[in-house]
Amino acid sequence: MKLRLLLPWALAVMFLASGSVWAQEQGFPITVVPPGKGPYEFPRGYQTPWDRIQMLVTEKLSPNLYCLHGSAGLDPAHPDAAGGRVAVLFGSDGVLMVDTEDPQLASKTLDTIRTFTAAPIKLVVNSHIHPDHTGGNAFFAKQGAVIFAQENLREEMLSPRGARGRAPDPDGVPTATYRYGSPGDPAVTIHMNGETVDFIPMMPSHTAGDTIVRFNKANVIYIEDFYRNFGYPFADQANGGSIRGMIEAVDLIEKIAGPDTTLVPGHGTLVKKKDLLGYRAMLVDILAKVQKLRDQGKSLDEVLAANLTAPYDATTLGDTQQSKDRFITEVYDEIKDLPPVIHGVRKMPARTPAQR
Ligand SMILES: [Zn+2]
Repeated sequence: MKLRLLLPWALAVMFLASGSVWAQEQGFPITVVPPGKGPYEFPRGYQTPWDRIQMLVTEKLSPNLYCLHGSAGLDPAHPDAAGGRVAVLFGSDGVLMVDTEDPQLASKTLDTIRTFTAAPIKLVVNSHIHPDHTGGNAFFAKQGAVIFAQENLREEMLSPRGARGRAPDPDGVPTATYRYGSPGDPAVTIHMNGETVDFIPMMPSHTAGDTIVRFNKANVIYIEDFYRNFGYPFADQANGGSIRGMIEAVDLIEKIAGPDTTLVPGHGTLVKKKDLLGYRAMLVDILAKVQKLRDQGKSLDEVLAANLTAPYDATTLGDTQQSKDRFITEVYDEIKDLPPVIHGVRKMPARTPAQR
């Protein structure tokens, strides 16, 4: 009798001692509603019908860590699932959210959170500045949340200069900030609801103000938008993003994630770190090919006409001409004369017709 009681305990200790990474909870993650695959087409002049978009619980990552995302086929910026993915840790200590969705979806996001927890909204951390990730900040600040972000994200919000820059709602500007230090080092660690949550500021990659969020017990990392599996990569260079930084970001995930760690992109399907390798290889390949053409003195239009993404089109969901051209243009700009990031913003030079 005594032995039977002891054995499971001894096994549990051995299991915990055998590795520093927490084990993923049995049976998780659960995909409740997968993102759409398309293809999607929207007529000219189409306006997003925000009132028709539902906020759904799309994934359960652990018993108290859920993802919410908008419905598919309605948001032309993100047709596979509207807006940006929100992660919600909940329990008796309150709610911690990663990102706050587009402003038009903020109150629906709260309504959906209220279907599984009545706990107060305590903390928000922003993965990057884009409105599909920070648009609901002011709304959730009014619910009582303290908003955390990298210092650069706050700078980007206070002095918007990028193509997507817009004057911030002062109530939605992050008030708790931290800086990028060494790759992979958490800047903030939060202990709540039995979970240990690390806010890990990133090198300039998708933007200069990126943060990934690690849920240690659930064995989950919210990796935001430096990786995507719908459409071609997007480095927001006006906000300090960098294609080379995105390669560094993938390499960092290789170091800090375990083989079974669930990686949660801001858009698209859940992945494991091995799924990032093809994406990395594509970035390296396209960088080298654009470099070669630039070395030959080719203009941007000539580089675009070379159709360098062709080998990847068949396997890239959401592949559109706009998505390809944006990616190739970023790589072209990055190879030469990419200005430095100052106060979270990279002042991109105006492109004259001759340079195209
Ligand atoms: Zn996004």
